[in-house]
Amino acid sequence: MRPRTGRIPRIRTLALACVTAALAAPLLSAPAQATPTPPRTGFEKTDGARWTSQPEEQKLLATVDKASDRVSVSRIGTTKQNRPLQLVRIGERPSKNTVLLICSQHGDEPSGRDACLSTIRDLAYAKDKQTQRFLSRTTLLVVPTANPDGRAADTRGNSDGVDINRDHISLQTAEARAMAAVIRDRQPDSIYDLHEYGATPKYYDKDLFDLWPRNLNTDEAVHEEAQTLSEAYVRPAANKSGYTTGTYGIWTDPVTGEPIKQTAGDGQERILRNVSGIKHAAGLLIESRVDPLTEAEQKDEALNNRRRVKSQLSALDGLFAYANERRGQLEAATSAARAEGFRDRGPVYVGGADNDPAEPSEVIQDPPCGYRLDAAQYDGVKDELALHGVKVRRDGAGAYVPMRQSARALVPLLLDERATYHLVTGSPDTDC
Ligand SMILES: [Zn+2]
Repeated sequence: MRPRTGRIPRIRTLALACVTAALAAPLLSAPAQATPTPPRTGFEKTDGARWTSQPEEQKLLATVDKASDRVSVSRIGTTKQNRPLQLVRIGERPSKNTVLLICSQHGDEPSGRDACLSTIRDLAYAKDKQTQRFLSRTTLLVVPTANPDGRAADTRGNSDGVDINRDHISLQTAEARAMAAVIRDRQPDSIYDLHEYGATPKYYDKDLFDLWPRNLNTDEAVHEEAQTLSEAYVRPAANKSGYTTGTYGIWTDPVTGEPIKQTAGDGQERILRNVSGIKHAAGLLIESRVDPLTEAEQKDEALNNRRRVKSQLSALDGLFAYANERRGQLEAATSAARAEGFRDRGPVYVGGADNDPAEPSEVIQDPPCGYRLDAAQYDGVKDELALHGVKVRRDGAGAYVPMRQSARALVPLLLDERATYHLVTGSPDTDC
């Protein structure tokens, strides 16, 4: 963790104040060239009594896309039930610093999605200098509904029951494939993944938990940036708004606050949080608490829902402050990590985590210089390799996948039989 370099600018809060003012003073003054009224989400219209529906989302995105020069909405895929997977880009012009929000990969965890939708709207209509300056130097990419079929059915998985957040290595789902293509093509510096969790009172019940990539293949400086994002920005911003925070997966003693056991949050490479690190972005998982713990929230579901969304919004303030203040350090870390793979050296980890040292059997100490795939093998995985951005040389009817490339550690994770989730067993080339 590094010390904070300055105060947290309240970018979203400022933007929201601007939007609220616009909403409050619409028709009475009705000038000839009226500022378009910012659209509201279904969640906002009902004061949190229900979540924003898919038709409401589509209408809001179309309105924002049309009304704001700084926003563009594009289609990045289609689900099995024929719903669009969409990417919203917000920014004044192309910029180096790119932040990617992935909202509600789990369809029954809706608060992140509603926080993302109102954030898109707020940033699209904001007129204050601070937000404009932020958007002139940062490109914000948002996948507002990462699992539309799961959201429609209120299920964790997609319509096939597949947990999308365990598919970021295999890429068997349309949803994970769409996200992989965005990460390959836009090379985000940070990837922020919004979820919700069920509490175990006293031991595991903070308003928000977050977690960085624990996978040991994450570049050290990128790992440090992700921890800084959590500890120096996201948590303080949430705390400032009155929300409690902690580390995802770690139960703590109710009296001392000391960690007592870990129930989730390992280094498994097929989770987006970890694949973010492997692909050289400062990843952060954020989880708001579903359960109402106060009597007032127990009696009033809308109040409970509003706390879930507001806590997510407060944490997003911290993310934007981080992107604003640490752009230089972050870009230096992600650029260096992307170049490092071309030096082709050092071990690759197929197990372990930053808080769980790898066993000797979980370390490929002296990796081969590449993996050969025969024609049938290559045919079976070539689309997935391409979606991962893995560089391949054609080799007769098959292919050769060199280790010397940007996402170097990804190569054995996809092709080495020692990696738990490898796609196919390539033949290691040790004749370097
Ligand atoms: Zn989740």
